[in-house]
Amino acid sequence: MPSPSTGTPWVVLKFGGTSVSQRHRWDTIGRLARKRADDGGGRALVVVSALSGVTNELTAIADGADDGAARVDALVARHRDFVQALDLDPDAVLGERLTALQALLADARAAARMLDWQAEVLAQGELLSSTLGAAYLRSQGLDVGWADARDWLDAIELPNQSEWGRRLSVSCRREADDAWRARFAAQPARLLITQGFIARHGDGGTAVLGRGGSDTSAALFGGLLRARGVEIWTDVPGMFTANPREVPDARLLARLDYAEAQEIATTGAKVLHPRSLGPCRVTGVPMAILDTERPDLPGTRIDGDASEVPGVKAISRRNGIVLVSMETVGMWQSVGFMADIFERFRRHGLSVDLIGSAETNVTVSLDPSENLVSTDVLAKLSEDLSQICRVKVIAPCAAITLVGRGMRSLLHKLSEVWATFGQERVHLISQSSNDLNLTFVIDEADADGLLPELHAQLIESGAMPVADATVFGPSWNEIQFGKPERAPAWWQGDDARERLLTLAQPGTPAYVYHLPTVRARAQALKAVAAVDRRFYAIKANAHPAILRTLEAEGFGLECVSQGEIEHVFDTLPGLAPARVLFTPSFAPHTEYDAAFARGVTVTLDNVEALRRWPETFRGRDLWLRVDLGRGDGHHAKVVTGGAASKFGLPLEAINAFAREVRALGGRITGIHAHLGSGIDHPKHWRGVYAELAAIADGVGTVDTIDLGGGLTIPYKPEDLPFDLEAWAQGLAEIKAAWPRYRLAIEPGRFLVAESGALLVRVTQVVDKLGTRRVGLDGGMNALMRPAMYDAWHGVHNLSRWGDGNEVACDVVGPICESSDVLGLKRKLPAATAPDDVMLVADAGAYGYVMANHYNLRGLPREDVLE
Ligand code: ADP
Ligand code: ASP
Ligand code: MG
Repeated sequence: MPSPSTGTPWVVLKFGGTSVSQRHRWDTIGRLARKRADDGGGRALVVVSALSGVTNELTAIADGADDGAARVDALVARHRDFVQALDLDPDAVLGERLTALQALLADARAAARMLDWQAEVLAQGELLSSTLGAAYLRSQGLDVGWADARDWLDAIELPNQSEWGRRLSVSCRREADDAWRARFAAQPARLLITQGFIARHGDGGTAVLGRGGSDTSAALFGGLLRARGVEIWTDVPGMFTANPREVPDARLLARLDYAEAQEIATTGAKVLHPRSLGPCRVTGVPMAILDTERPDLPGTRIDGDASEVPGVKAISRRNGIVLVSMETVGMWQSVGFMADIFERFRRHGLSVDLIGSAETNVTVSLDPSENLVSTDVLAKLSEDLSQICRVKVIAPCAAITLVGRGMRSLLHKLSEVWATFGQERVHLISQSSNDLNLTFVIDEADADGLLPELHAQLIESGAMPVADATVFGPSWNEIQFGKPERAPAWWQGDDARERLLTLAQPGTPAYVYHLPTVRARAQALKAVAAVDRRFYAIKANAHPAILRTLEAEGFGLECVSQGEIEHVFDTLPGLAPARVLFTPSFAPHTEYDAAFARGVTVTLDNVEALRRWPETFRGRDLWLRVDLGRGDGHHAKVVTGGAASKFGLPLEAINAFAREVRALGGRITGIHAHLGSGIDHPKHWRGVYAELAAIADGVGTVDTIDLGGGLTIPYKPEDLPFDLEAWAQGLAEIKAAWPRYRLAIEPGRFLVAESGALLVRVTQVVDKLGTRRVGLDGGMNALMRPAMYDAWHGVHNLSRWGDGNEVACDVVGPICESSDVLGLKRKLPAATAPDDVMLVADAGAYGYVMANHYNLRGLPREDVLE
């Protein structure tokens, strides 16, 4: 790859619509342009878009909108006002240009909406913005020249391009000779300002580069001038792993190579025009994407030296995709069928994007940003194609694309992504031959709300390697609102640590539960007004002090076995049975009898039990656990929905279940679903509630909807706390839509996980072949989660609290199993040695209750702290 010529004086800065629509941003533009020129000892070229929204208006005018004259008047007024706001004289600065804009309406070509006239209309936005900007910067004392981009960028005709493309979505010549460069440099001012988006057509008229094409103008200038860099200044601080306005958890992509950036741009990330990468790539000019409002943020850097990191980098979405499905008989047998088809697309100047084929069907997609896919064009194409096959046009569709290096080797990590798409009607799946993308085409309406969910799944599954800081930066939310302040854990205070060291004395491993933390979580949930009934899922932690604490906070208790029920009533003898739920899985039927005898609420999830033990269920009120056909959760092993899961009654069996209950003289009074555990996207529950309410409406006798639990906690330092507010708001919205049902929840983890610490002692520290292992006296026997779910728990050396954590160690237990690992590559104090007391954090849920005697090691002790 050629490297940009050293010593080039030029740097190119492109400012988008929002960056040029306010006075203070023009101050920034002036400052940045001067600074960049100074830094390089040279010159800066500023490329600008039209003021925000202006190109939309011009497009409507060019398309012949009825109220074209009124729109022109509004544009004139808007530009005059803005010039006034810049303390300049509108007539002196823009008089001529505004007259030219008005004259275009009266142009002879207007009636027929000739393409050259349309291009000229569209070009006015950039001509206006660059003119007023140059005037303002000069008024601020800057040495700024104005260049007409059409004098420097020449549109070229691509083979088979439609007339529309040749005028309104042009590509430009990428080569220039030294004479061109010399002429450009001969423009006197040190800073130059020119227009994005517009170029000279071969006939001398105006052409435009297509929507968003200003980025490409800047890149073209960058390549032609062999610039030191091209900076795209916009309204977001870089390219993100998804559109941050749709996915607030999207992460900044700090560094990309041209190929990946190209793929992300091409597949829908509007922040960069897809044709802008090429000119920079072939000349080796580095690009950056930066935020005009926050110019000090580092943004995204794109160049040829970025190291190749495998994994999904982004998920993007394109709307307005048109699918053309072509059905024929025996297509593979007929030589040249494909050629016939594509010849017809060529004839209509349409470039095909994705292709899917089956024995008798070929389906292709057309991208509206590359094609004029008007109804007229599609009708003509269909007519033409119908001579050789049956044609069906499916629109509007959305193409959702995962972009990243090595997609093929990631397929095993995408099971949840496939499952999510499994609920939609997928028209086409396409995997690019460069192994950089995987695209799903679905109906546009189905795509709404899907991206945040998919994005979370990509991170959860490890397919998007966000821990790699060379590529992934902070999330949009974090940049907007700062890193969420995580209150220090209860055990971090000096007093608490001293007490824990004392509690470790009698012996480890030992669990310690901090009851004030349990209370605080309980109170946070009690503040969620939409919830009517709260139960604590005691399987998370059945310690009597915790049950008593939560009962006192008004929580009922949810049990999954007869043993748990008995434990609950032993611990709280006076507890009203109405405050106890029994939600077992494949329990022996005698446990149902015992539960009914206790008077607790029983949940059932299959018809078979009703049929086999009618006497058990006769005349009973029951809650029904349904399977909504999908699951969710932090790990495949905690997903509790979908065909592969043993839990829940499938939707198609609900009527049979209801008939059976009625025949036994019973009633279904509650509907319950629990899709999984450790779910961190709060909108999940809102959707579940809506589905359950619809089922409840059908059943008729239901008074309570139980959403289960599943609320997560932030285990890793970079995890965000569960967004209780968003969760509450979602529930409130849906509750308002179905006010007749009482809403129940039954969280476990959320209430107790953070209250628990596991204390263990270091047994041995061993260096083996470059890996340091810190061995503990409790491992998967004391805390099963890491071995079972690859769960992450913080590990801290309490005995050496003040020391730095500088050595990466694998933290392992004493069990004779390779999976007995509590954490990999954890930074611990260098001096960590046998007998040190270590703390494993957030172990209050599914810790002691899952501990075992494996290798005949003893169970951990348990203590509570007030
Ligand atoms: P400009 O007017 O500066 O050219 P654009 O509106 O064309 O700005 O592009 C910036 C917008 O791109 C952002 O406001 C954002 O909504 C959108 N966008 C879509 N996908 C992405 C992404 N992956 N990363 C960053 N921004 C994106
Ligand atoms: N003003 C044009 C548009 O909005 C070009 C651009 O901003 O790149 O599409
Ligand atoms: Mg843009």
